[in-house]
Amino acid sequence: RAVYAQGPRTLREFVEVTWGYGERPFLVGEHRAYTYREFFAVACALARRFTEVYGLRPGDRAVIAMRNHPEWQIAFWAAQLAGLVAVPLNAWWTEDEFAYALDDCRPRVLLVDGERVGRVRDWARKAGVPGVVFHGDGEAEEGFERYEDLPAADPALGPPDVDVRPEDDATIIYTSGTTGRPKGAVATHLAQAGAAMNPRFHAAVAALERGEIPGQGPAPVSLTTFPFFHVAAFTSFYAVMAAGGTLVLMRKWDAAKALELIDRHGVTHYAGVPTTALQLLDAAQDTGLGTLTHLSTGGAAAPPGLVARCPQGVEARNGYGLTETSGGVLAAFGEAYRAFPGSVGRPTPVTEVRVAAPDGRALPEGEVGELWLRGQSLCRGYWEDPEATAAAFTPDGWFRTGDLATVREGRVSVVDRLKDMVIRGGENVYCVEVEAALHDHPDVADAAVLGVPHPVLGEEVAAVVRLRAGARAGTGADELRAHVARRLAAFKVPAHVLVQDGPLPRNATGKVLKRELREDVQARVTRTR
Ligand code: ATP
Repeated sequence: RAVYAQGPRTLREFVEVTWGYGERPFLVGEHRAYTYREFFAVACALARRFTEVYGLRPGDRAVIAMRNHPEWQIAFWAAQLAGLVAVPLNAWWTEDEFAYALDDCRPRVLLVDGERVGRVRDWARKAGVPGVVFHGDGEAEEGFERYEDLPAADPALGPPDVDVRPEDDATIIYTSGTTGRPKGAVATHLAQAGAAMNPRFHAAVAALERGEIPGQGPAPVSLTTFPFFHVAAFTSFYAVMAAGGTLVLMRKWDAAKALELIDRHGVTHYAGVPTTALQLLDAAQDTGLGTLTHLSTGGAAAPPGLVARCPQGVEARNGYGLTETSGGVLAAFGEAYRAFPGSVGRPTPVTEVRVAAPDGRALPEGEVGELWLRGQSLCRGYWEDPEATAAAFTPDGWFRTGDLATVREGRVSVVDRLKDMVIRGGENVYCVEVEAALHDHPDVADAAVLGVPHPVLGEEVAAVVRLRAGARAGTGADELRAHVARRLAAFKVPAHVLVQDGPLPRNATGKVLKRELREDVQARVTRTR
């Protein structure tokens, strides 16, 4: 309790405290549930196996590649209890993408599910690295143990006796690779412990903004649909664990199933990317959201219309963060979010914000510049990449996010990613603003805006739009351009609006993969010029 009051300084301290929640339900998976006590016992047993049987030592890397099974949590926290550096990998990666990250971080153990073992098998054999398979079917693979076959946990035995210091590395998390190759962001225990306590601060600030006393009320039951390998999920599961709440898990996203789970488990909090949140709101149009009181999105820009679509009694939240900040460091809540639906709110008390001019100078409120962040939860740099580290971090500890932002009345709005901004004949066009205008059209299901080269203007604005099923026959490029022209200055109106049938390419956190769209759009635009 003393540790909790001061704030933990390592993830090991953080998880040890949650043991005190005993018989409360922690993980509710599709096939199995764990109370806090059961979870802690199996995590300790696996941690002991790492040190006593596998001979792993603090600092060794443990890769995790699994769907959102409850056992992902067991693997992650077992690694922390053994002082290992957990490396959660994107579960949707192909064999080649896994090989890239495995060569990069050189793990000493692989913790994978049965669906993924085939994608790491060859690498493991060549490197002679052992592993554990969770939810495998049939026989164990060579070099891998089946989790189900491990000896039963003895709850009397605690975690292994290893020394974990705040300055030791706790995680390597690869960036999404939206703008280039994924980079491994290395966070120390102190940074992750800061991130683990961040949601508590968020919750306290939100309660204060509502005029309530923080820390009151029952423990949350959270349907967390962010993939666990992404830091947005960390913010969500840390908040649940700090409060002794329950994590309800889905193997695979399905809006109708989500409504069923909300009903069955009395879910109070929903956390996921904006795309799934919108699908949930669509699915709940007739039935309502039942016991839900909070709907949090993050990982990608939420369309400003999302907050207004939340029914009475459901508070929308928008969290902003990056892999490099170990999760959400800015958040918009409640009435303040309704009043400024395009904003990502205020920083947590452990986070400092600067809107920087190209020379690093802090810009006054209202001006647009690069968002810089500083604070405890920042990663210490990129894994074995001093050049990329020096480019992203300033000597006095600021991290350059690569996002363009502005601050008004203390609230931050992200206007675009620096790399996505279109410079049309010297005028800056922020894609996020044009996308929001398109989303505002009743027939638009999805939209992405990007720049295409232009011989005179340098760049011009193009949009790719998917229409809703049942869109009116008259809705096409001309109608959508006219719609944007009624809202925004002429230079921001897309010169080209390409309507497509299928979904836009998105990554696991709901971000449109513009580099995948770019080539196709350029080719189509050149043909029409
Ligand atoms: P890479 O650095 O490899 O290109 P990435 O930056 O997409 O990958 P992440 O760390 O997953 O990797 O994403 C962080 C980015 O996501 C932020 O820089 C920001 O552009 C965007 N983002 C996250 N949350 C929000 C939000 N609430 N509103 C707007 N944008 C957001």
